[in-house]
Amino acid sequence: MRPFVYEQPTDISAAVAIASSFTSRDDQPTRANAQFIAGGTNLADYMKLGVAEPARLLDLNRLKDPSLRQIRVTDDGIRFGALVRMGEAADHRDVKQRYPVIADSLRLAASGQIRNMASLAGNVLQRTRCEYFRETSWHCNKRAPGSGCAAMEGFNRQHAVLGTSDACIATYHGDFAQALIALDAVIHAEGSRGTRKIPFAMLHRQPGETPHMETDLAADEIISAIEVPAMPWARRSLYLKIRDRESYAFALASAAVALDLDGETVREARIALGGVATVPWRARAAEQSLQGKRLDDASAGAAADAAFAQAQPRKHNAFKIELGKRTLVRALLETRNMKV
Ligand SMILES: Cc1cc2nc3c(=O)[nH]c(=O)nc-3n(C[C@H](O)[C@H](O)[C@H](O)COP(=O)(O)OP(=O)(O)OC[C@H]3O[C@@H](n4cnc5c(N)ncnc54)[C@H](O)[C@@H]3O)c2cc1C
Ligand code: SF4
Repeated sequence: MRPFVYEQPTDISAAVAIASSFTSRDDQPTRANAQFIAGGTNLADYMKLGVAEPARLLDLNRLKDPSLRQIRVTDDGIRFGALVRMGEAADHRDVKQRYPVIADSLRLAASGQIRNMASLAGNVLQRTRCEYFRETSWHCNKRAPGSGCAAMEGFNRQHAVLGTSDACIATYHGDFAQALIALDAVIHAEGSRGTRKIPFAMLHRQPGETPHMETDLAADEIISAIEVPAMPWARRSLYLKIRDRESYAFALASAAVALDLDGETVREARIALGGVATVPWRARAAEQSLQGKRLDDASAGAAADAAFAQAQPRKHNAFKIELGKRTLVRALLETRNMKV
């Protein structure tokens, strides 16, 4: 690990000012000289591995604004402060009742210890676990732009089948983000150019030819909150996660589903897929295929086919297409059968 300067600003504007003075406009947050740290469960890991090398770490945990640590439920929806810990949000009574898909996505992630340490903003910004990205001796376009992608011809069982490019096939591994994108969440960010709201679906960038450009955030922008709009029918929602072992493992395939039903007919469906795509993945074609239809084995199967119609398998991950479809079918039928 390289030496770095450690600072603990106490308000957001001070943190932004420091970040701004050590970064330039075009810097990617993950490659900037000054980087923010919250729980540290992702960034400290990557600093130890030599994947991230900030010269200055700005610890957000001393920021005084209490709203950063609060979960607020109103008629408009729910607002999570950026520093709320995963475990607290997963256990929150209103989150469990009103948005089970959010509570599930957090409860099924990582371990109890990590959930107590990790923040919600840090969670959505976690970086890929691609083995070739984590080990600096391999070629990796995301870590070292233009160097190539060792995963293309390597062991790519964990890699993505949706949203890939010739430059990168790394999976986005987070779970919470799938619930957020399905529910049309919005990110609040504060930076040297002011405050702004970013639709969650616009936060992460597909790799294209520039896999090192991972999000839409500027290097001096801090996420202050995550808002999820009110959606009474989201009580009928869940997150289904399939993995190699039942605990403490990332998803091979997952589905976040929320359904607005009229009897067994779908008024509206919200679907996102995890473990199979390069970014949090909203399955809009699947949603559209269900609209106005009776939800049964056949329509759920057709939705799953639509969700994976554009999938591009590599040598070791073709199984994810069938697994992803079965995961989605099961999630849809289990959501239909929920007693709400
Ligand atoms: C063994 C292990 C298993 C795991 N399993 C899972 C799993 O199954 N599912 C899952 O979803 N996750 C899993 N994780 C990932 C874990 O959830 C993340 O590491 C964690 O959520 C990151 O949050 P943090 O607060 O520790 O982020 P940090 O490590 O502090 O930061 C992560 C990134 O976010 C940036 N950042 C943090 N806060 C802000 C902010 N407010 N504004 C702007 N930038 C910010 C940092 O600069 C950094 O780039 C696992 C992690 C480990 C180590
Ligand atoms: S898949 Fe992406 S992150 Fe993994 S080695 Fe290739 S370029 Fe790097």
